[in-house]
Amino acid sequence: MKNPDLDKIFSTIPGAQKAADGFIISGENARFHVFGVLTEEQTKGLATEETFYLPFCTKEEILRIRNQSSSSDYLLWLRAEAIADSPRAVRVFRKRAAGKKGWSLTKYYRDNFSYDKKYLEMAGGKFKSKTSNIPAGMAFVRDVNAMCIHTKFGNVIVANEALTFFLYYMNIVFLGREHGIDYSDISASLAIAIRIMLGSESLDFDIDPRGDLPPKIHKEISNYTELQLIFIFGHEYAHHTLGHLSSSSIKKYPLQTIMHTERSDIDIKAYSYEHKKEYNADLYAIKKIRNNNHFRSIMADSAFLIFIYFDILDHVLQYLALRDNISKTHPNPLDRLWHLRGKLKSKIGASVDTIRSYLKVSGQIKNLLIKEWLPFRIDELERYGSIYLPSYKRKILIDRIDF
Ligand SMILES: [Zn+2]
Repeated sequence: MKNPDLDKIFSTIPGAQKAADGFIISGENARFHVFGVLTEEQTKGLATEETFYLPFCTKEEILRIRNQSSSSDYLLWLRAEAIADSPRAVRVFRKRAAGKKGWSLTKYYRDNFSYDKKYLEMAGGKFKSKTSNIPAGMAFVRDVNAMCIHTKFGNVIVANEALTFFLYYMNIVFLGREHGIDYSDISASLAIAIRIMLGSESLDFDIDPRGDLPPKIHKEISNYTELQLIFIFGHEYAHHTLGHLSSSSIKKYPLQTIMHTERSDIDIKAYSYEHKKEYNADLYAIKKIRNNNHFRSIMADSAFLIFIYFDILDHVLQYLALRDNISKTHPNPLDRLWHLRGKLKSKIGASVDTIRSYLKVSGQIKNLLIKEWLPFRIDELERYGSIYLPSYKRKILIDRIDF
Protein backbone atom coordinates (compact mmCIF):
# COMPACT_ATOMS: atom_id res chain seq x y z
CA MET A 1 0.00 0.00 0.00
CA LYS A 2 3.09 2.28 -0.10
CA ASN A 3 2.87 4.77 -2.89
CA PRO A 4 5.63 7.39 -3.28
CA ASP A 5 3.67 9.27 -5.98
CA LEU A 6 0.78 9.68 -3.63
CA ASP A 7 3.08 10.82 -0.80
CA LYS A 8 4.50 13.52 -3.07
CA ILE A 9 1.09 14.83 -4.08
CA PHE A 10 -0.17 14.95 -0.53
CA SER A 11 2.89 16.69 0.88
CA THR A 12 1.73 19.73 -1.10
CA ILE A 13 -1.84 19.76 0.24
CA PRO A 14 -2.23 21.70 3.48
CA GLY A 15 -4.01 19.73 6.20
CA ALA A 16 -3.79 16.38 4.42
CA GLN A 17 -3.48 13.74 7.07
CA LYS A 18 -1.66 10.45 6.63
CA ALA A 19 -3.99 7.48 7.15
CA ALA A 20 -3.12 3.81 7.61
CA ASP A 21 -3.91 3.41 3.93
CA GLY A 22 -3.62 6.59 1.82
CA PHE A 23 -4.53 10.08 3.01
CA ILE A 24 -7.46 11.96 4.45
CA ILE A 25 -8.22 15.48 3.23
CA SER A 26 -10.70 17.43 5.31
CA GLY A 27 -12.69 20.17 3.64
CA GLU A 28 -15.29 22.41 5.22
CA ASN A 29 -18.19 20.05 4.71
CA ALA A 30 -16.64 16.77 3.72
CA ARG A 31 -13.73 14.45 4.28
CA PHE A 32 -12.11 12.49 1.50
CA HIS A 33 -10.19 9.30 2.00
CA VAL A 34 -7.81 8.91 -0.92
CA PHE A 35 -6.22 5.48 -1.38
CA GLY A 36 -4.31 5.74 -4.57
CA VAL A 37 -4.00 7.01 -8.06
CA LEU A 38 -5.07 4.90 -11.01
CA THR A 39 -2.73 5.03 -13.95
CA GLU A 40 -3.95 5.40 -17.50
CA GLU A 41 -2.63 1.95 -18.27
CA GLN A 42 -4.79 0.44 -15.51
CA THR A 43 -8.00 2.13 -16.57
CA LYS A 44 -7.54 1.92 -20.32
CA GLY A 45 -10.55 0.31 -22.03
CA LEU A 46 -12.61 0.12 -18.83
CA ALA A 47 -15.91 1.86 -18.21
CA THR A 48 -15.99 4.10 -15.12
CA GLU A 49 -18.08 1.59 -13.13
CA GLU A 50 -15.61 -1.14 -14.02
CA THR A 51 -12.71 0.79 -12.50
CA PHE A 52 -14.36 0.30 -9.08
CA TYR A 53 -13.29 -3.35 -9.34
CA LEU A 54 -9.63 -2.43 -9.89
CA PRO A 55 -8.48 -2.42 -6.24
CA PHE A 56 -9.29 -6.13 -5.92
CA CYS A 57 -9.69 -7.60 -9.42
CA THR A 58 -7.21 -8.00 -12.24
CA LYS A 59 -8.07 -6.41 -15.55
CA GLU A 60 -8.56 -9.85 -17.01
CA GLU A 61 -11.12 -10.60 -14.28
CA ILE A 62 -12.95 -7.35 -15.02
CA LEU A 63 -13.24 -8.37 -18.65
CA ARG A 64 -14.55 -11.79 -17.59
CA ILE A 65 -17.19 -10.00 -15.51
CA ARG A 66 -18.12 -7.85 -18.50
CA ASN A 67 -18.43 -10.79 -20.90
CA GLN A 68 -19.82 -13.47 -18.60
CA SER A 69 -19.89 -16.80 -20.39
CA SER A 70 -19.71 -19.43 -17.64
CA SER A 71 -20.92 -20.10 -14.12
CA SER A 72 -17.39 -19.37 -12.81
CA ASP A 73 -17.64 -15.92 -14.39
CA TYR A 74 -20.95 -15.48 -12.59
CA LEU A 75 -19.32 -16.41 -9.26
CA LEU A 76 -16.51 -13.93 -9.95
CA TRP A 77 -19.07 -11.20 -10.71
CA LEU A 78 -20.98 -11.94 -7.50
CA ARG A 79 -17.77 -11.79 -5.47
CA ALA A 80 -16.73 -8.49 -7.03
CA GLU A 81 -20.18 -6.96 -6.71
CA ALA A 82 -20.28 -7.85 -3.01
CA ILE A 83 -17.18 -5.72 -2.43
CA ALA A 84 -17.41 -2.83 -4.88
CA ASP A 85 -20.16 -0.73 -3.32
CA SER A 86 -18.99 -1.03 0.28
CA PRO A 87 -16.03 1.27 1.04
CA ARG A 88 -15.22 -0.82 4.10
CA ALA A 89 -15.19 -4.06 2.12
CA VAL A 90 -12.86 -2.40 -0.40
CA ARG A 91 -10.53 -1.47 2.47
CA VAL A 92 -10.57 -5.08 3.72
CA PHE A 93 -9.61 -6.28 0.25
CA ARG A 94 -6.92 -3.64 -0.19
CA LYS A 95 -5.36 -5.08 2.95
CA ARG A 96 -5.81 -8.67 1.77
CA ALA A 97 -4.21 -7.82 -1.58
CA ALA A 98 -1.42 -5.60 -0.23
CA GLY A 99 2.02 -6.82 -1.22
CA LYS A 100 0.66 -10.06 -2.75
CA LYS A 101 2.36 -10.91 -6.02
CA GLY A 102 0.07 -12.26 -8.72
CA TRP A 103 -3.07 -11.34 -6.74
CA SER A 104 -6.45 -11.99 -8.24
CA LEU A 105 -9.82 -12.25 -6.50
CA THR A 106 -10.30 -15.79 -7.78
CA LYS A 107 -6.87 -16.84 -6.55
CA TYR A 108 -7.47 -15.24 -3.16
CA TYR A 109 -10.60 -17.29 -2.59
CA ARG A 110 -9.05 -20.44 -4.00
CA ASP A 111 -5.98 -20.17 -1.76
CA ASN A 112 -7.72 -19.18 1.45
CA PHE A 113 -10.92 -21.21 1.66
CA SER A 114 -11.43 -24.87 0.81
CA TYR A 115 -14.58 -25.97 2.67
CA ASP A 116 -16.25 -26.96 -0.60
CA LYS A 117 -13.27 -29.07 -1.66
CA LYS A 118 -13.00 -30.69 1.76
CA TYR A 119 -16.62 -31.75 1.58
CA LEU A 120 -16.14 -33.23 -1.89
CA GLU A 121 -13.04 -35.11 -0.72
CA MET A 122 -15.06 -36.77 2.03
CA ALA A 123 -17.99 -37.48 -0.27
CA GLY A 124 -15.78 -39.29 -2.76
CA GLY A 125 -15.32 -39.58 -6.50
CA LYS A 126 -18.85 -40.30 -7.65
CA PHE A 127 -20.35 -37.34 -5.85
CA LYS A 128 -17.44 -35.19 -7.01
CA SER A 129 -18.11 -35.99 -10.64
CA LYS A 130 -21.80 -35.06 -10.21
CA THR A 131 -20.80 -31.62 -8.96
CA SER A 132 -17.64 -31.02 -11.00
CA ASN A 133 -19.25 -28.30 -13.10
CA ILE A 134 -20.62 -26.42 -10.10
CA PRO A 135 -18.35 -23.56 -9.01
CA ALA A 136 -18.49 -23.19 -5.24
CA GLY A 137 -16.86 -20.95 -2.69
CA MET A 138 -17.04 -17.98 -0.36
CA ALA A 139 -17.98 -14.39 -1.14
CA PHE A 140 -17.87 -11.23 0.98
CA VAL A 141 -21.65 -11.03 1.20
CA ARG A 142 -23.03 -9.46 4.39
CA ASP A 143 -26.10 -11.71 4.68
CA VAL A 144 -25.57 -14.58 7.16
CA ASN A 145 -26.42 -17.35 4.75
CA ALA A 146 -25.32 -19.72 1.99
CA MET A 147 -27.02 -20.14 -1.36
CA CYS A 148 -27.32 -22.49 -4.27
CA ILE A 149 -27.92 -20.06 -7.12
CA HIS A 150 -29.48 -20.79 -10.48
CA THR A 151 -27.74 -18.99 -13.34
CA LYS A 152 -28.20 -19.31 -17.08
CA PHE A 153 -24.85 -21.11 -17.19
CA GLY A 154 -25.68 -23.60 -14.44
CA ASN A 155 -25.82 -23.68 -10.66
CA VAL A 156 -23.35 -21.85 -8.41
CA ILE A 157 -22.85 -22.39 -4.69
CA VAL A 158 -21.85 -19.51 -2.45
CA ALA A 159 -21.38 -19.28 1.30
CA ASN A 160 -21.13 -15.77 2.63
CA GLU A 161 -18.14 -14.63 4.66
CA ALA A 162 -20.63 -13.07 7.11
CA LEU A 163 -21.69 -16.63 7.94
CA THR A 164 -18.09 -17.61 8.73
CA PHE A 165 -17.66 -14.66 11.08
CA PHE A 166 -21.04 -15.34 12.67
CA LEU A 167 -20.21 -19.01 13.32
CA TYR A 168 -16.78 -18.14 14.74
CA TYR A 169 -18.27 -15.82 17.36
CA MET A 170 -21.17 -18.16 18.14
CA ASN A 171 -18.63 -20.94 18.71
CA ILE A 172 -16.87 -18.72 21.24
CA VAL A 173 -20.22 -18.16 22.94
CA PHE A 174 -21.15 -21.80 22.98
CA LEU A 175 -17.81 -23.51 23.56
CA GLY A 176 -15.68 -20.71 25.02
CA ARG A 177 -16.50 -21.49 28.61
CA GLU A 178 -14.87 -24.92 28.49
CA HIS A 179 -11.74 -23.24 27.12
CA GLY A 180 -11.63 -20.82 30.05
CA ILE A 181 -12.87 -17.75 28.18
CA ASP A 182 -14.17 -15.09 30.53
CA TYR A 183 -17.87 -14.30 30.79
CA SER A 184 -17.32 -10.70 29.63
CA ASP A 185 -15.74 -11.96 26.38
CA ILE A 186 -18.51 -14.49 25.83
CA SER A 187 -21.09 -11.76 26.27
CA ALA A 188 -19.21 -9.51 23.80
CA SER A 189 -18.92 -12.39 21.31
CA LEU A 190 -22.67 -12.94 21.51
CA ALA A 191 -23.23 -9.26 20.79
CA ILE A 192 -20.84 -9.43 17.80
CA ALA A 193 -22.58 -12.53 16.38
CA ILE A 194 -26.01 -10.95 16.66
CA ARG A 195 -24.78 -7.68 15.23
CA ILE A 196 -23.27 -9.53 12.24
CA MET A 197 -26.68 -11.01 11.61
CA LEU A 198 -28.44 -7.66 12.01
CA GLY A 199 -25.92 -6.06 9.64
CA SER A 200 -24.76 -3.55 12.23
CA GLU A 201 -21.31 -5.04 12.90
CA SER A 202 -18.88 -3.88 10.28
CA LEU A 203 -17.24 -6.88 8.61
CA ASP A 204 -13.74 -5.45 8.84
CA PHE A 205 -12.25 -8.09 11.14
CA ASP A 206 -9.18 -8.30 8.88
CA ILE A 207 -8.22 -4.67 9.45
CA ASP A 208 -9.66 -4.12 12.93
CA PRO A 209 -9.31 -7.31 15.01
CA ARG A 210 -11.85 -7.46 17.83
CA GLY A 211 -9.34 -9.10 20.16
CA ASP A 212 -7.07 -12.06 19.46
CA LEU A 213 -7.84 -15.21 21.40
CA PRO A 214 -4.82 -17.21 22.61
CA PRO A 215 -3.60 -19.19 19.54
CA LYS A 216 -4.58 -22.60 20.92
CA ILE A 217 -8.17 -21.53 21.62
CA HIS A 218 -8.40 -19.65 18.32
CA LYS A 219 -7.36 -22.83 16.54
CA GLU A 220 -10.01 -24.91 18.28
CA ILE A 221 -12.76 -22.38 17.63
CA SER A 222 -11.66 -22.05 13.98
CA ASN A 223 -11.70 -25.83 13.66
CA TYR A 224 -15.36 -26.00 14.75
CA THR A 225 -16.16 -23.17 12.36
CA GLU A 226 -14.47 -24.97 9.49
CA LEU A 227 -16.38 -28.22 10.09
CA GLN A 228 -19.67 -26.32 10.23
CA LEU A 229 -18.89 -24.68 6.89
CA ILE A 230 -17.99 -28.04 5.37
CA PHE A 231 -21.46 -29.25 6.40
CA ILE A 232 -23.03 -26.11 4.92
CA PHE A 233 -21.35 -26.74 1.57
CA GLY A 234 -22.57 -30.35 1.75
CA HIS A 235 -26.09 -29.06 2.35
CA GLU A 236 -25.90 -26.68 -0.63
CA TYR A 237 -24.41 -29.37 -2.89
CA ALA A 238 -27.34 -31.56 -1.85
CA HIS A 239 -29.81 -28.93 -3.06
CA HIS A 240 -28.07 -29.19 -6.43
CA THR A 241 -27.80 -32.97 -6.69
CA LEU A 242 -31.35 -33.50 -5.40
CA GLY A 243 -32.64 -31.26 -8.18
CA HIS A 244 -34.09 -28.62 -5.87
CA LEU A 245 -33.36 -25.90 -8.39
CA SER A 246 -35.72 -27.15 -11.02
CA SER A 247 -37.52 -24.24 -12.60
CA SER A 248 -40.71 -24.76 -10.60
CA SER A 249 -38.98 -24.06 -7.31
CA ILE A 250 -36.91 -21.01 -8.15
CA LYS A 251 -37.52 -17.71 -6.49
CA LYS A 252 -36.00 -14.32 -7.20
CA TYR A 253 -34.19 -12.49 -4.42
CA PRO A 254 -33.23 -8.85 -5.06
CA LEU A 255 -29.46 -8.43 -4.89
CA GLN A 256 -29.93 -5.42 -2.62
CA THR A 257 -31.40 -7.60 0.13
CA ILE A 258 -28.16 -9.51 0.57
CA MET A 259 -25.36 -7.06 -0.18
CA HIS A 260 -24.45 -3.40 -0.38
CA THR A 261 -25.07 -2.55 -3.98
CA GLU A 262 -26.49 0.26 -6.01
CA ARG A 263 -27.82 -2.21 -8.56
CA SER A 264 -31.53 -2.26 -7.85
CA ASP A 265 -32.29 -4.01 -11.13
CA ILE A 266 -30.60 -7.33 -10.43
CA ASP A 267 -32.07 -10.44 -8.80
CA ILE A 268 -30.43 -13.62 -7.66
CA LYS A 269 -32.35 -16.75 -8.53
CA ALA A 270 -32.18 -19.37 -5.81
CA TYR A 271 -34.39 -22.21 -4.69
CA SER A 272 -37.45 -21.31 -2.70
CA TYR A 273 -37.34 -22.74 0.80
CA GLU A 274 -39.51 -25.69 1.53
CA HIS A 275 -39.37 -27.64 4.75
CA LYS A 276 -39.05 -30.98 3.06
CA LYS A 277 -36.19 -29.85 0.84
CA GLU A 278 -34.27 -28.44 3.80
CA TYR A 279 -34.71 -31.70 5.73
CA ASN A 280 -33.60 -33.75 2.75
CA ALA A 281 -30.58 -31.58 2.04
CA ASP A 282 -29.49 -31.85 5.71
CA LEU A 283 -29.75 -35.62 5.71
CA TYR A 284 -28.24 -36.11 2.28
CA ALA A 285 -25.22 -33.92 3.17
CA ILE A 286 -24.35 -36.43 5.90
CA LYS A 287 -25.34 -39.62 4.10
CA LYS A 288 -23.15 -38.76 1.12
CA ILE A 289 -20.00 -38.87 3.25
CA ARG A 290 -18.38 -42.03 1.98
CA ASN A 291 -17.57 -44.97 4.31
CA ASN A 292 -16.66 -42.86 7.28
CA ASN A 293 -19.00 -42.95 10.25
CA HIS A 294 -16.60 -40.91 12.32
CA PHE A 295 -16.76 -38.00 9.87
CA ARG A 296 -20.51 -38.46 9.44
CA SER A 297 -20.80 -38.00 13.20
CA ILE A 298 -18.65 -34.87 13.09
CA MET A 299 -20.86 -33.47 10.31
CA ALA A 300 -24.04 -34.31 12.24
CA ASP A 301 -22.71 -32.61 15.38
CA SER A 302 -21.67 -29.58 13.32
CA ALA A 303 -25.20 -29.40 11.91
CA PHE A 304 -26.75 -29.68 15.38
CA LEU A 305 -24.68 -26.73 16.61
CA ILE A 306 -25.55 -24.62 13.57
CA PHE A 307 -29.27 -25.26 14.19
CA ILE A 308 -28.90 -24.36 17.85
CA TYR A 309 -27.14 -21.11 16.88
CA PHE A 310 -29.86 -20.22 14.40
CA ASP A 311 -32.47 -20.99 17.02
CA ILE A 312 -30.78 -18.48 19.36
CA LEU A 313 -30.85 -15.96 16.51
CA ASP A 314 -34.52 -16.62 15.84
CA HIS A 315 -35.12 -15.86 19.46
CA VAL A 316 -33.50 -12.45 19.06
CA LEU A 317 -35.29 -11.75 15.80
CA GLN A 318 -38.62 -12.64 17.30
CA TYR A 319 -37.87 -10.33 20.20
CA LEU A 320 -37.06 -7.59 17.74
CA ALA A 321 -40.15 -8.60 15.74
CA LEU A 322 -38.15 -9.06 12.56
CA ARG A 323 -38.87 -12.65 11.73
CA ASP A 324 -42.62 -12.78 11.20
CA ASN A 325 -42.73 -13.58 7.53
CA ILE A 326 -39.52 -15.59 7.32
CA SER A 327 -40.56 -18.19 9.86
CA LYS A 328 -43.61 -19.19 7.87
CA THR A 329 -41.55 -20.50 4.95
CA HIS A 330 -38.32 -21.44 6.67
CA PRO A 331 -38.33 -24.47 8.93
CA ASN A 332 -37.69 -23.77 12.56
CA PRO A 333 -34.01 -24.63 13.22
CA LEU A 334 -34.84 -26.95 16.09
CA ASP A 335 -37.32 -28.83 13.90
CA ARG A 336 -34.45 -29.33 11.49
CA LEU A 337 -32.27 -30.55 14.34
CA TRP A 338 -34.76 -33.13 15.65
CA HIS A 339 -35.74 -34.21 12.18
CA LEU A 340 -32.11 -34.90 11.33
CA ARG A 341 -31.51 -36.65 14.68
CA GLY A 342 -34.53 -38.85 14.02
CA LYS A 343 -33.40 -39.85 10.55
CA LEU A 344 -29.78 -40.68 11.37
CA LYS A 345 -28.64 -43.98 12.82
CA SER A 346 -28.26 -43.60 16.57
CA LYS A 347 -24.48 -44.12 16.45
CA ILE A 348 -24.08 -41.12 14.09
CA GLY A 349 -23.86 -37.80 15.91
CA ALA A 350 -24.69 -36.66 19.43
CA SER A 351 -27.33 -38.62 21.34
CA VAL A 352 -30.71 -37.19 22.25
CA ASP A 353 -29.48 -36.70 25.82
CA THR A 354 -26.37 -34.86 24.69
CA ILE A 355 -28.45 -32.63 22.45
CA ARG A 356 -30.72 -31.88 25.40
CA SER A 357 -27.66 -30.80 27.38
CA TYR A 358 -26.63 -28.50 24.50
CA LEU A 359 -30.10 -27.03 24.54
CA LYS A 360 -29.73 -26.32 28.24
CA VAL A 361 -26.65 -24.25 27.43
CA SER A 362 -28.49 -22.46 24.65
CA GLY A 363 -31.30 -21.77 27.14
CA GLN A 364 -28.73 -20.05 29.36
CA ILE A 365 -27.52 -18.01 26.40
CA LYS A 366 -31.07 -16.93 25.64
CA ASN A 367 -31.40 -15.91 29.28
CA LEU A 368 -28.25 -13.84 29.01
CA LEU A 369 -29.81 -12.12 26.02
CA ILE A 370 -33.12 -11.52 27.70
CA LYS A 371 -31.59 -10.26 30.92
CA GLU A 372 -28.59 -8.38 29.67
CA TRP A 373 -28.77 -7.40 26.05
CA LEU A 374 -32.27 -7.17 24.71
CA PRO A 375 -34.07 -4.96 27.22
CA PHE A 376 -31.29 -2.52 28.04
CA ARG A 377 -28.69 -2.63 25.31
CA ILE A 378 -30.66 -2.77 22.08
CA ASP A 379 -28.89 0.38 20.91
CA GLU A 380 -25.56 -1.36 21.25
CA LEU A 381 -26.82 -4.18 19.05
CA GLU A 382 -28.20 -1.92 16.38
CA ARG A 383 -25.62 0.88 16.24
CA TYR A 384 -23.27 0.50 13.26
CA GLY A 385 -19.66 -0.07 14.29
CA SER A 386 -17.64 -2.63 16.19
CA ILE A 387 -17.61 -4.44 19.51
CA TYR A 388 -14.40 -5.80 21.08
CA LEU A 389 -13.52 -8.69 23.38
CA PRO A 390 -12.47 -6.85 26.56
CA SER A 391 -9.81 -9.36 27.74
CA TYR A 392 -8.06 -9.70 24.40
CA LYS A 393 -8.15 -6.25 22.86
CA ARG A 394 -5.11 -4.22 23.82
CA LYS A 395 -5.74 -0.88 22.17
CA ILE A 396 -8.81 0.43 20.42
CA LEU A 397 -7.68 1.61 17.00
CA ILE A 398 -8.93 4.76 15.35
CA ASP A 399 -10.86 4.10 12.17
CA ARG A 400 -8.95 5.09 9.01
CA ILE A 401 -5.97 6.51 10.91
CA ASP A 402 -4.72 3.27 12.50
CA PHE A 403 -6.31 0.75 10.13
ZN1 LIG B 1 -31.05 -25.25 2.32
